[in-house]
Amino acid sequence: MICAGNWKMNMSPAQAEAFARQLVAEVPVTAKDKFVLLPPALLAGTLATELKGSGIAWGGQNCYCELKGAFTGENSPQLLAEMGAQYCLVGHSERRHVFGEPDELLAKKVAALQKVSVTPILCVGETLEDRRANRTQEVIEGQLGAGLRGADSSRPLWIAYEPVWAIGTGLVATPQQVEEAHSILRRVLVSWNAACSVTPILYGGSVKSDNVASLSSLNNVNGFLIGGASLDVREFLRIFQNSAIG
Ligand code: PEP
Repeated sequence: MICAGNWKMNMSPAQAEAFARQLVAEVPVTAKDKFVLLPPALLAGTLATELKGSGIAWGGQNCYCELKGAFTGENSPQLLAEMGAQYCLVGHSERRHVFGEPDELLAKKVAALQKVSVTPILCVGETLEDRRANRTQEVIEGQLGAGLRGADSSRPLWIAYEPVWAIGTGLVATPQQVEEAHSILRRVLVSWNAACSVTPILYGGSVKSDNVASLSSLNNVNGFLIGGASLDVREFLRIFQNSAIG
């Protein structure tokens, strides 16, 4: 199972360094390729140094849709690639709902990342209001379809299903809700391109070491995007260990 840790706007350089060193030391060689760390952009250099040659990947939490130019304060997909990032989140719910990023912009980010061979992790997920109004399918199909409009089917793409109401709230989607959503996403992916039968679809939303096992055996769940619980290296490692039990 893939374990991607979204540190959000947390961690200092010293904490990031200590975390990366411990992770490199403790993850078995055969599992190194299952881990991805997503630090704040200012800590990219720290992780690039600490993870170099380890087999553990890192990536961005966000980037702009242009490769360079007069875009003060933004981060370039090309710079991420040059620094060694292998992945970048696109459309995390905080980008969609706190910063108001629309589907059209997110599709352009997917295209820009693929162009420089950084794998986009396109995040989709319904709000509680959407779920209560039975709009979950419509919302996640719409967000995925819009993101795919920017995507090149010959290049890697990952998807993360993150119900907004489960992010940072301690509320985890039930196995049935996760399986339903992931099967909807798989169907959309495969009808876009048959090769997407193996596209990784991660679940995210209050994943912890004590709830991950029940989610990891579900159809079409290929890993986890972990926020709060990825800030503690011991807990992050336990999540990985317990995800193998499910
Ligand atoms: C996230 O930020 O992507 C996330 C899933 O957060 P948490 O695990 O804290 O709910």
